[in-house]
Formats: sequence, C-alpha cells, structure tokens
Amino acid sequence: MAISDTDLKHLRKCVALAREALDAGDQPFGSILVDYTGTTVFSDRNRVKDGDETQHPEFAIARWAAEHLSPQRRARATVYTSGEHCPMCSAAHAWVGLGRIVYATSTEQLTGWLSEWGVPPAPVAPLPISTVAPGVAVDGPAAELTEEMKDLYAAKFRA
Ligand SMILES: [Zn+2]
Repeated sequence: MAISDTDLKHLRKCVALAREALDAGDQPFGSILVDYTGTTVFSDRNRVKDGDETQHPEFAIARWAAEHLSPQRRARATVYTSGEHCPMCSAAHAWVGLGRIVYATSTEQLTGWLSEWGVPPAPVAPLPISTVAPGVAVDGPAAELTEEMKDLYAAKFRA
C-alpha cells in the first residue's frame, strides 16, 4: 500500500510529537495509534531521558492497545510513527496483534545518518520491522518528511 494524504497527515502529527520529545530533552520519536474509524485513540513520544531506555512510544502503544482494544480492533488499527520501530517495539506490536505500520523515516536511514555522524552503534541490532515481524504490513519511508526528521535527529545525536 502506498502512503496516502491521510497517512501523511497522521505522520505529520508523529513528527510534531518527535519535536516535542526533543524539546523536552528526550529522543525525537513520536507515534500515534489510529483505529479503523480513522480516530487517533492513543499517542505518545519517546521518554528515555530519565534512564529507562525502553520508554519508546511504539512500546507504549502496544501495551495500551493490549489493555484497551479487542484483538479485532487491534488488527484493524494502524500505528503511525516518526521513525521505524526498533526490534523491541516490532516484537511488542506483533505480540499484541496490531495492524499496519506507517513510518516517516526508516531504521536504515537513521543508522546511516548516525554512522555518518560518528555515533556509536546501539546495543540492539538495527533490524527492519519486516525481519522481526514478517506478518505486519509496513509502509515507509515518506520522502516528504525525510529532511525534517533528519534535522531533528541531527539536533539530538550529531556531536
Ligand atoms: Zn522501540
């Protein structure tokens, strides 16, 4: 499935959340959960600055969905995110049976920029969603948002 104008509208909200995270001293990542009616039912942003490196918004979405949505509603929901899920979040997404994922920038793009900027590799392998959760429909990256996201990453990670 290609990225539609509606998808882009949701992705722009994720980028705004990523900017909010950056401004708060966290890492620039934001995500929203949209149900089958097109309603945003949950949103969050990265919150790792206090030392818990698992405080990713996609993980928070998986937990919220498991608690609040039936399996049927989870399968029909879409997760939009400013940056492609890490392996931890891909696994959580798949375990709770959420539906499609749409991301603005890919893990491949981010790891490329981080290595260009001399940032040491993360402790978790940069596997794409499709490797960790092969049954999940995935779309991205969105070329329209690449430069804006790269600037946010640079503001956080570039020395
Ligand atoms: Zn993650």
